[in-house]
Order: sequence, then structure tokens, then C-alpha cells
Amino acid sequence: MSADFARLAQEIAEVTDAGVNIVHLDVMDGHFVPNITIGPPVIAKLRKVSGLVFDAHLMISEPAKYAEPFARAGADHITFHIEAADDPHRLIEKLHQLGCTAGICLNPQTPVEAIEAVAPLCEMVLVMTVHPGFGGQAFMPEAAKKIVRIRELVGPDIRIEVDGGIDPQTASTVVSYGADTLVAGKAIFAESDRIAAINAIREACE
Ligand code: ZN
Repeated sequence: MSADFARLAQEIAEVTDAGVNIVHLDVMDGHFVPNITIGPPVIAKLRKVSGLVFDAHLMISEPAKYAEPFARAGADHITFHIEAADDPHRLIEKLHQLGCTAGICLNPQTPVEAIEAVAPLCEMVLVMTVHPGFGGQAFMPEAAKKIVRIRELVGPDIRIEVDGGIDPQTASTVVSYGADTLVAGKAIFAESDRIAAINAIREACE
């Protein structure tokens, strides 16, 4: 959501050249979160111009209802919020049947216990280190500390992704806690030199 929505294809091409592996797509519905961004029609168009992994982060109510449209639009991975799901087990199963990998996300105020039963069934756990809904917020150190417990819970093979306020400094902190997948928005898209911005985050994590 930090990219320029009027030139998404070019923005994705630029970060692809800079060595990014995954495009993180922030989907907001104006209901689960107060903001509205993009949905399956935009993702389907982007799918035609990019071969990168599409990681859809559904900040929406009723995620089960929309799993199929997002999968058909070309999302490779779909993460939904534990706070929004009536039956997370069934939704994870459905995502796998649709050929997607599944992710479970928890808000900063949501305890790790909330995802205990379902996190081991997913390919990725997404830890929010800002309140979902808007870009450019300050990193919440207390929320990031949950990564340590989540890593103990899921073991080494499930990805732990962190979303919110990632820059070279916070990247190094969350990687030391056990995160292996970082969502960087403003830290890349607010910089004119994307290659330097991405390298700075990578180098901080080494
Ligand atoms: Zn996100």
C-alpha cells in the first residue's frame, strides 16, 4: 500500500530489478479496517505483468467468502486475520485446496494464544507491528516481541513475516527475534533509490 497506486506495474518492476522476492498486497475493505485499497480485479491485472510471488494480506471481514476470488486473481499466498475468521481451520483447508499457501495474521493487541491451534497448519504467520489499516505508522516494539514465542510455537519451517514500520533498524530487531520475511513499505517506496533502500534492509539483517 506504500507504492504509487497509479503506477503499480512500474513500481513492481522497479523492486523486482532491485531483487525483491515477494510482492505484499495490502487488501483493505473499509470494514475490518477503516481504509479501502485494492481487490481481485487489480491483482488479476498485476498478475499479467509480474512473475513474483503474490502475497495477499486480507485485512477484510469474512475472509472465507473472498478466498476463491483472490486465488483466481493470481494470489500465490493468502493471509487472513485471526480476528476476522469464524472458522480458521476450515479456511486454511480451503486455501490449500485452492492451491495457495495459507497465512494467519494477528493484530498488535492479539495474544499469541489466539493463533496457537492454527499457526502450525499454515505456511506463514504474519505479525502486525502497527495497527492495520494505514501505512507509515511507527513500529510497536511490544508487538514484535511476540515473534520469539511464535517461533517456539511453529518451529523452524514455517515463515514468520512482519508487517509495520520495517526499516533497517527494526528489521534487524525482528530477525533477531526469529522473523524471516519482512514487509517493507515506506522504507522502500518513499526512497528514490529502491536498490539502496532494499540493500540497507538486507545488510542490517546479516
Ligand atoms: Zn500488509
